[in-house]
Amino acid sequence: MTFKTLDDIGDVRGKRVLVREDLNVPMDGARVTDDTRLRAAAPTIAELADKGAIVLVLAHFGRPKGVPSAEFSLAQVTQPLAHVLGREVRYVDWEGDKEAVATLQPGDVAVLENTRFFGGEERNDPKVVERFASLGDLYVNDAFSAAHRAHASTEGLAHVLPAFAGRSMQAELEALEKALGKPEHPVAAVVGGAKVSTKLDVLKHLVGKVDHLIIGGGMANTFLAARGVDVGKSLCEHDLRDTALEILEAADKAGCTVHLPYDVVVSKEFRANPPTRTVNVHEVAADEMILDVGPAAVEALGDALKTCRTLVWNGPMGAFEIPPFDTATVALAKTAAALTQSGSLVSVAGGGDTVAALNHAGVADDFTFVSTAGGAFLEWMEGRELPGVKALG
Ligand code: ADP
Ligand code: MG
Repeated sequence: MTFKTLDDIGDVRGKRVLVREDLNVPMDGARVTDDTRLRAAAPTIAELADKGAIVLVLAHFGRPKGVPSAEFSLAQVTQPLAHVLGREVRYVDWEGDKEAVATLQPGDVAVLENTRFFGGEERNDPKVVERFASLGDLYVNDAFSAAHRAHASTEGLAHVLPAFAGRSMQAELEALEKALGKPEHPVAAVVGGAKVSTKLDVLKHLVGKVDHLIIGGGMANTFLAARGVDVGKSLCEHDLRDTALEILEAADKAGCTVHLPYDVVVSKEFRANPPTRTVNVHEVAADEMILDVGPAAVEALGDALKTCRTLVWNGPMGAFEIPPFDTATVALAKTAAALTQSGSLVSVAGGGDTVAALNHAGVADDFTFVSTAGGAFLEWMEGRELPGVKALG
């Protein structure tokens, strides 16, 4: 994996730099409800502006499907971004953009309107690539979360302008490289969440890469059932029995130890604080659901992590939104965080619910790296080459 960064970009004074960011923030009316993505964009924008570049931020917002509208206008994100940056940010519409950009001075920052107001953005249409490229001298891609899509602003531009990774993109790629590219062994992967079917490619890729595969959450039930365990009323994909057995066999061949829970927390009801039982996996009653990994298994998993140098984590160990079924996820997350802080473990985690679970456990900051990239993170865990990253190479 080779790519140029802002360290290689040279003198940017007076140059117009097109910076692809992820500004796709959740909003409630005019208020940004989570500014994580704006804070991730800030270092690259500030660094370039401080060096005298004319910074032109390119981003998509929602799914306007080529139809301009106020609802999907990036005008509404301009002030929140200015607030996070602590500097003025101009907004530039796709009408008269050339003239507007020509008035900008070195050090100025502008947000260009939603890239998806052009239908050709998502088709990577060369005309749209050219439309964007004509505004800038250099291209910086800082949006890892959009790198699994080959769109004009995420991929096409890298072929027509000198292209560099921004600081957020760089941090993400370096962390992911450390976790699965060239990791220190032994490597453990925690894969949890609801269903095997959404993470088949992740599991298939990981068995050939990691030394320990820890399977938790609803998807563990599918593996347990495939091995002949009666999982009662648990969430379980019985039709994936053969697939599950194939994955277990592939792991065996690759020398990857698969950890499935041997004790579990069960309940008859899927609600907060219902009556529960902690039982061996062979003692689940016909009317019970497995909703969390049990304490004995969690302790054994913690011991396994202590022998590892690297951890990659996607998916919670139980139905963590509902107490007390957050217990295993929180306990294992705390162990991983403590091992990371003591310097024995490199820990990288990602996934929408995983990030929420780590925040809930209060340990997100104690992991080496937590990716908020969602789809791009999962595709990377599947071992796929992301087009937006490849184009930077
Ligand atoms: P991520 O977003 O991090 O990739 P997923 O979306 O794959 O994670 O999985 C998260 C969901 O899995 C959560 O909603 C959680 O409640 C659910 N889940 C975890 N364990 C169980 C279980 N034993 N039974 C039912 N649902 C579960
Ligand atoms: Mg999810």
